[in-house]
Amino acid sequence: MENKPIARKLRLLSQLMELHDVNQFKARSIANAAFKVDKLPYPAASKSFEQLEKVEGIGKSIAAKITELLESGTMAELQELLDKTPDGVLEMMAIKGVGPKKVSIIWRELGIETVGELLYACNENRLVEAKGFGLKTQEDIRNAIEFKLAANGKFLYAQVEGAANELFHEIKDIFPEALKHFAGEFRRLNEVISELVIVIGGNDPAIALNTLTSSNLLDNISQDTDRVTGDLHGLKVTIICSTKADYYEQLFLNTGSNEHVKAVLERMADSLEESESEEMIYKKAGLAWMPPELRENGVFIEKAADNNLPQLIAFHDLKGALHNHSTWSDGINTIEEMALYCRDELRLEYLGMCDHSKSAFYAKGLTIDRVLQQQEEIDHLNKTIGGFHIFKGIESDILFDGSLDYPDEILSRFDFVVASVHSILKMDETKATSRLVKAIENPYTTILGHPTGRLLLTRGGYPIDYKKVIDACAANNVVIEINANPLRLDMDWRWHQYALDKGAWLSVNPDAHRKEGLLDMRYGILAARKGGLYKERCLNALSFLEIQKFFDKKKLSRQSQKK
Ligand SMILES: [Zn+2]
Ligand SMILES: [Zn+2]
Repeated sequence: MENKPIARKLRLLSQLMELHDVNQFKARSIANAAFKVDKLPYPAASKSFEQLEKVEGIGKSIAAKITELLESGTMAELQELLDKTPDGVLEMMAIKGVGPKKVSIIWRELGIETVGELLYACNENRLVEAKGFGLKTQEDIRNAIEFKLAANGKFLYAQVEGAANELFHEIKDIFPEALKHFAGEFRRLNEVISELVIVIGGNDPAIALNTLTSSNLLDNISQDTDRVTGDLHGLKVTIICSTKADYYEQLFLNTGSNEHVKAVLERMADSLEESESEEMIYKKAGLAWMPPELRENGVFIEKAADNNLPQLIAFHDLKGALHNHSTWSDGINTIEEMALYCRDELRLEYLGMCDHSKSAFYAKGLTIDRVLQQQEEIDHLNKTIGGFHIFKGIESDILFDGSLDYPDEILSRFDFVVASVHSILKMDETKATSRLVKAIENPYTTILGHPTGRLLLTRGGYPIDYKKVIDACAANNVVIEINANPLRLDMDWRWHQYALDKGAWLSVNPDAHRKEGLLDMRYGILAARKGGLYKERCLNALSFLEIQKFFDKKKLSRQSQKK
């Protein structure tokens, strides 16, 4: 073993000792020894225990550890500490700018166990208030994590959107006369983007290729027969250059998933060539034109054949925003600020407040007393803010046994309840499914919040039996959330059709922790469109009067259930 790996193990040992608060003094001397070993002009492995012991800054006990490491490949003390440390917490220590002291606070006080949760917490502003952190540290940590994520070439849609549109504008300026469009994942509005594809149809593809190759639009640019490839801040980009005559063929071929393109081509009686529009291509296959976001798999092909595609929901169909947080729990705007933003900027009719419930102590979850105080404030605001309504909701934790977080007499005071899992996410599919189903069967549950708890690219979410969970929602009149935070987009769009077919309703919820967070509903809408959602089955596309009726009906069914 060389000096570097020995030094690394010693450093890890000292960090873990600090993290677990074992003997700070010893931790520091091990950190110093690690530094020393790293700088030794000879291999430590070539020295005996007696020789190492005499090296200044190493000493007897650390020399013994090095010998143990050289002989057995590990150190008992290190192994013991590693066993006590969740993998995600270890990963956090590798993030630039986050030492063991900060990780300890993040883990123990904020209850965060993975890098994904840490990124989410940065986005929700949760670090700012913790001891030893400030806005600057939070930003540094966020940047370091995003940098790390970018290293595997995958990005959230929301992360690449700005750069993608900028690139497209530059291409427009260079080729004003050409036909051009995004294709691929980005045009399909996928939640995760691994490649940005643009198709250009012009008079002379060869010239276009050379122009692009000599431009500085992309890093590492290289040219192939019909395309240039390169990257944009780590995102792979492909620009395909065709003639105007072949443009729609290329656009079609490069937009749909392989499965989709194959399925359409199999239905084609005619050749793809000489297609003057995408409509014409779909027509040749006996299909109605399909919006790009539906070109994933076979699900919508039959509907396109029957000319029965859904009228996809749009942002302007939304009439309100349910599931939002305020300064009462972990949000950074007051209820009034959130309400006025909804009314004046977004032209919405209502806002649903859903601060965290009491078990979410790390997010200042509301005790029963504070629930009552908040409801008084909402009553007051409803009298003073004209032309708008604030609904009293709560985001109730689903406890480990599937029960909600307040007694029935408190739950009955809310206009609606979003039930979500926030703690003990390590569950197998059976446990997770029964935990959710029990919460869904609770007569006070109105909406199931972020059903799997996933954080895209960083945390997989607990496994659930989607069919069982969705069936239970449909049977109990529980609406399923499409959490619009671009890191979540949970429930996944791949299950929206099944839910709609079963008669369930969906709701595009921003889960906003500040007023600008309400704009995330835009990303929720993109996911909902991919799932084929239409406004008639979207809870927050109901007008104020309609949704009030919806909530009242739920209350009535609860009363009749009790009798
Ligand atoms: Zn939540
Ligand atoms: Zn929430």
